[in-house]
Amino acid sequence: MAGSSEGVGDKELPPILEQRCILQSEALSQYIMETSVYPREPEALRELRQLTATDLRQAPAIRFWNVMATGPDEMQFLSMLLKLMNAKKTLEIGVFTGYSLLATALSLPHDGEIIAIDTNRKNFELGLPFFEKAGVAHKVDFREGLALPILNELTKEVRERKHYKLTSAFSNLISTTYRTHIMMYMAGCVFYFQEKYKGWFDFVFVDADKSNYMNYHERVVEMVRVGGIIGYDNTLWNGSVVAEAMAERPFPWYIMESRDAILEFNAYLAADSRVEICHLSIADGLTLCRRLR
Ligand code: SAM
Ligand code: CA
Repeated sequence: MAGSSEGVGDKELPPILEQRCILQSEALSQYIMETSVYPREPEALRELRQLTATDLRQAPAIRFWNVMATGPDEMQFLSMLLKLMNAKKTLEIGVFTGYSLLATALSLPHDGEIIAIDTNRKNFELGLPFFEKAGVAHKVDFREGLALPILNELTKEVRERKHYKLTSAFSNLISTTYRTHIMMYMAGCVFYFQEKYKGWFDFVFVDADKSNYMNYHERVVEMVRVGGIIGYDNTLWNGSVVAEAMAERPFPWYIMESRDAILEFNAYLAADSRVEICHLSIADGLTLCRRLR
């Protein structure tokens, strides 16, 4: 805020120092895209982005919705993060035609796994040929349906998978006979239930209905491993989080409809001691949460 920063005293800051957020400048945003993002965008991603931006326009019912695809600058950032983390298992809630999903698939190793949830299989299938062409379709396990019930099922499944891995690792290591196998399985069960459940996914990307972000958080915070990252998209929600300060700019109904949910969610994350957070002003706002315990 002008004049209130430490060490600056009461003097007005020059305007240039107040403009720290790239969202304030379309031209700057375009400059980043044209200089650093588009020239390095993988071919399959570029083709999928173009299909989403053009072909969907021809279908009037969904024409409007092509703005839903995640921005390439944001995915360039997340792709680097995934590689830095050596992420192998990820979860995505909200797929649409698959731009963020394809960028994720391209960033995971060959044996990487992504569970991807969306109510709309048709849009996912529109993008699927680009996954096939890029040789990453095998990494994606698409689950069609509402995210909340699927997440509830997934919690159980993740526990079972972890359980199976642990017990079979025991068995493979020590047992040769059937009887020892069973004994080792039972020992594994005891070990599993004594271990605190620490999560399965390295990374989770949440980009579906904003009114459920809080519900998603309560589920995925248990499913991401300690040290893993959850990314929540659109946490600046078109700038409407400060709608009062932007009274001159009218926001469309679909923005105002979920504005309170985003405001509530941002405040809730800021107070959640289970995660460390970082609220980024990239694209439409991205909040990263690192699980602490
Ligand atoms: N991440 C996508 C991309 O990069 O193209 C964009 C996702 S789009 C913003 C939101 C998606 O969430 C839509 O495809 C919609 O069908 C899905 N969705 C909305 N509510 C949902 C729910 N309750 N359960 C599952 N999917 C949902
Ligand atoms: Ca989004």
